[in-house]
Amino acid sequence: MLVMRNVHVPLQSGWERRDVWIEGGRYRRITPPEHGDFISGARVVAPKAGFLIPAAVDPHVHVREPGYDYKEDWESCSKAALKGGVCAIFDMPNNKEPVTRERGLLEKRAIALKKSLVDFGLYVALTDGNVDEIKETKIQKLISGVKIYMAETTGGLLVRSDRALLQVFGQPKPVLVHTGGAEGLCRILHFYTKAKKRVGTLPVLYICHLSTKEELTLVEGAKREFLSLKAEVTPHHLLLHRKNYEEYGSVLPNLGTPEDAECLWDGVARGTIDFMGTDHAPHTVYEKKKKSPPAGFPGIETAVPLLMTAFGERKLPASRLVRFTSQAARELFHLGDGSIMPKNSASCVLFEEGEWEVGGGYETKCRWSPFEGVKTGYRTLLTVVRGNVVYRDGKFNKRRVRFITA
Ligand SMILES: [Zn+2]
Repeated sequence: MLVMRNVHVPLQSGWERRDVWIEGGRYRRITPPEHGDFISGARVVAPKAGFLIPAAVDPHVHVREPGYDYKEDWESCSKAALKGGVCAIFDMPNNKEPVTRERGLLEKRAIALKKSLVDFGLYVALTDGNVDEIKETKIQKLISGVKIYMAETTGGLLVRSDRALLQVFGQPKPVLVHTGGAEGLCRILHFYTKAKKRVGTLPVLYICHLSTKEELTLVEGAKREFLSLKAEVTPHHLLLHRKNYEEYGSVLPNLGTPEDAECLWDGVARGTIDFMGTDHAPHTVYEKKKKSPPAGFPGIETAVPLLMTAFGERKLPASRLVRFTSQAARELFHLGDGSIMPKNSASCVLFEEGEWEVGGGYETKCRWSPFEGVKTGYRTLLTVVRGNVVYRDGKFNKRRVRFITA
């Protein structure tokens, strides 16, 4: 039995202090804080200013292994995830050798099962020629979704075939799209609309990393027609913008203007944007300092503490934060209700409130962050995955992980 005493938990009414009891992988009791320190037979954690939220689920991660494990591998990435309060990650297929077939998925799954400290799922990349294979059971049972690149990015996976872009909606797994901007977004919406006339139930269409007001407006309009249309934003597109960030440039999509960021925040507040996806895309400092650096920022280690801080500053409700970082993705991948309620599976992160700063002691192998020096109001004390304490005060505890394919 693990008991977290007198911690703030997000309830409909806002943050409330509670004692949270976890046993057998689940929340057992959530009670008003009791007086006195002694609870027989239990491990008690009683932080000074503890904030407990459901652990985040990150639908957008580039682990890099196999192929580029000098900059990140499954162990370092999953440790960074746990330190950032993330309990499950979904890995993109644009590896050195793109994951487009069964063999690549099997290879990656084997590595991740051995090395990952968090639950994980995998995506397959759509190409001009593999859509029929993706529909087969041998692939379907290995994937959590299909990734489409409508614009150039790391890995050269641009899809040009109209047939592929239409047929991909004839399979049931979520279809995640790197649109490359408004033009690509309109193009995929065109195929989604076309597919609606042909197939009864459409899979979820998931628009990755919205970055401009224009894209948000398009998504908002299309959402009126498609309940199954979902959208993601990254912490860096919310918290950084072109004018205040120049170091380690090059991220795709590019950082927008302060006005873009404000619109994206508005989309988060109103629920037009469903998911926080970190788009954790580590590259070494050496690579980022080159003349034409590869695109991407690391972010999984810092996302949730920074967002906790920003949500507080913007006076956005804690329940919205939980939906944005965890609950929406749990629904997408059928992971069950993760809210802090009796009988629910207990995957959560306990933060300590205080004054902290991003920097140093990174778990990500690339050892830098675009948020270096940024103040944060929270620091991870412990991360619990399905009832097991897997991270506490800088120490990790490897447990059996779950391969997610829903
Ligand atoms: Zn990405």
